[in-house]
Amino acid sequence: MANLRHYTFMLQGLEETAQKLAQRRIGFVVRICAGPSSDLEFARICAEVHPSLIVCDEDPSRRDAKWAREALLYPSAPLWSVDADVIVPSRLIEKEQFAARTIRPRIRRRLKEFLKPVGNRTVHVPWKDDRRIESFAVSCRLTSQLHLDGSVSPTDKFHGGADAALTALRRFIRDRLGGYASGRNHPEIDATSQLSPYLHFGQIGPHTVALAIHGAAAPSRDREAFLEELIVRRELAVNFVRCNPRFRTLESIEPWARRTLGEHARDERTHLYTEKQLANAETHDPLWNAAQRQMVSSGWMHGYMRMYWAKKILEWSPAADEAYDICVRLNDRYELDGRDPNGYAGIAWAVGGKHDRPWGPERPVYGKIRYMSFASTSRKFNSRAYIEQWNA
Ligand SMILES: Cc1cc2nc3c(=O)[nH]c(=O)nc-3n(C[C@H](O)[C@H](O)[C@H](O)COP(=O)(O)OP(=O)(O)OC[C@H]3O[C@@H](n4cnc5c(N)ncnc54)[C@H](O)[C@@H]3O)c2cc1C
Repeated sequence: MANLRHYTFMLQGLEETAQKLAQRRIGFVVRICAGPSSDLEFARICAEVHPSLIVCDEDPSRRDAKWAREALLYPSAPLWSVDADVIVPSRLIEKEQFAARTIRPRIRRRLKEFLKPVGNRTVHVPWKDDRRIESFAVSCRLTSQLHLDGSVSPTDKFHGGADAALTALRRFIRDRLGGYASGRNHPEIDATSQLSPYLHFGQIGPHTVALAIHGAAAPSRDREAFLEELIVRRELAVNFVRCNPRFRTLESIEPWARRTLGEHARDERTHLYTEKQLANAETHDPLWNAAQRQMVSSGWMHGYMRMYWAKKILEWSPAADEAYDICVRLNDRYELDGRDPNGYAGIAWAVGGKHDRPWGPERPVYGKIRYMSFASTSRKFNSRAYIEQWNA
């Protein structure tokens, strides 16, 4: 469930959209769908505005969205869904893909066809209708009417909106894209784009980002490393949630991984923590605690730490399926980019070896799932600097 943190970020973006549409004299209607009548809200709006065309965003994790079904019940307008989360439409990738190496050639084959600038940015359709259509004024004050979980506060680190997203993209290209390939595994420095919250809320699209990276002057090694994450890894995650209905649970993993976790289910755990202790960063491991604090206070955890974070939850929970559920709950609650295909695929990878392969030697609790230790992880970067940053 989205909370105050997520809604504040989303509304910051929507407020900006409303202003831009007003400048172009394009109408914008916002309705709050709450309570038992919400089911029919979408159909009601259609009956009021008589749309010529309905365009919606295709969300592979919510194919059962009620409003999309309702829109189909409004037969006088065609419904177009746009797969804006990805560059190559996810329905063109047949069946669930096993790993990056299997989806990569499929994406590459179609990339030229789909990775091109989106035209017609200056379209101007003035709102001539003089009927008064009920609407809420969009601002962050709307959160008070939404009965949200207010226990996760908004974050100062990220301000929502397309302008902020474009600024973040420009700064990344100017200051950090050169060196991304080596810098991205250094959580103590800001070497990655931090675009994931904007991508998650659709405030910037992968097309815009990919085209800007293509045209940048940085070394090709860095551009390629970035595009591998932005396109191949991201679209592998979308393929996972689209094709595997059990993506929110450990049941989504491969038979080899289920077998090895089952064989180690009774292994002794050296440390066991409750979800509350984990949420409060009350473990014996300062590196893990720092990562948890980064997520809770800023709404974003560094990607390298996300791997370590989830793997340790596997190690410190009584059972692998419990670990998976805790990862999903904490990730979706605190990360601004949570509730995203990337999150489910990342957790499935870390806890259940999804899109990975069996690793040796076999370890307690993990079995053949790839292992990360405090010692090896903290040797790879200046872990002391990272710990100091977040454990203050
Ligand atoms: C346990 C775990 C949980 C994760 N949870 C989320 C989540 O909730 N939401 C989320 O968006 N990502 C998640 N990721 C994937 C990844 O860690 C983040 O997308 C990335 O760290 C975001 O930072 P960035 O924008 O600076 O990435 P950059 O390194 O700048 O990469 C650019 C973009 O590429 C995509 N990307 C990068 N790494 C990955 C990856 N491994 N898999 C898929 N796409 C990737 C993202 O859209 C990212 O914004 C998770 C990974 C793991 C292992």
